[in-house]
Amino acid sequence: MMTQNRKTRRLDSFQKQHMLASLAAILLLAGSLWFSYRFAPVKRSAFSGESEACLVIDPGHGGIDGGAIAYNGQRESELNLSISLKLRDLATFYGIDTRMTRQDEEPRNDYVTYSEREELAYRADFAENTENAVLISIHQNFFPTSQPSGAQVLYGPGAESRRLGELTHANLVQALQPDNRRVAVPAPRDLYLTSHVSCPVILVECGFLSNLTDLQLLSDDQYQKSFAAVLLGSYLQYAQAPSI
Ligand SMILES: [Zn+2]
Repeated sequence: MMTQNRKTRRLDSFQKQHMLASLAAILLLAGSLWFSYRFAPVKRSAFSGESEACLVIDPGHGGIDGGAIAYNGQRESELNLSISLKLRDLATFYGIDTRMTRQDEEPRNDYVTYSEREELAYRADFAENTENAVLISIHQNFFPTSQPSGAQVLYGPGAESRRLGELTHANLVQALQPDNRRVAVPAPRDLYLTSHVSCPVILVECGFLSNLTDLQLLSDDQYQKSFAAVLLGSYLQYAQAPSI
């Protein structure tokens, strides 16, 4: 037990140093992209029309639906919300227009009236009713065994969703998870949210609540900020580059 604890502490120390360096790099990237985004003559060709794109952030689950539950009782919905709020705050700081499908853990329905399908339909409509939306849905993964770890990005139908998904996943690996061997993959057709919106959409599984190292990282405030910074940097890169 002691050996495992020392090993975990050494790992934490190394990972935090790595994360701080990555966060600084990503914020610099986000800052430089922000100036391009705001002032360069390049149009935001990834989006239709003249109006500015809007980053729609969906913290998965919430209310009576806690999502996956870690062995220590940590609810997925709370971690999703915490990372989402950090992403929103960072995006707002950079002058990016944002909307959130939920902003707290308060239930919109009680147990009797709650329907997962209706909740997902509400969130899909929320994005559909937002002009020039780009939707990022934030979740945590879970597996029956503790081995699987690392982030995984799922992207919705269409080339724009794929471009955003591959870009985001590559940035997460480079900045935060150099040992992550996963790749961005198309979301399954039966994944309601990604299948019921017409805007660019990705679903980010930030890590596995069933993996102890992932759970420690995902519960860490600084790691959550780093994760949010990578998501914002990826969104800005996506918005700046010409569409396919
Ligand atoms: Zn989830």
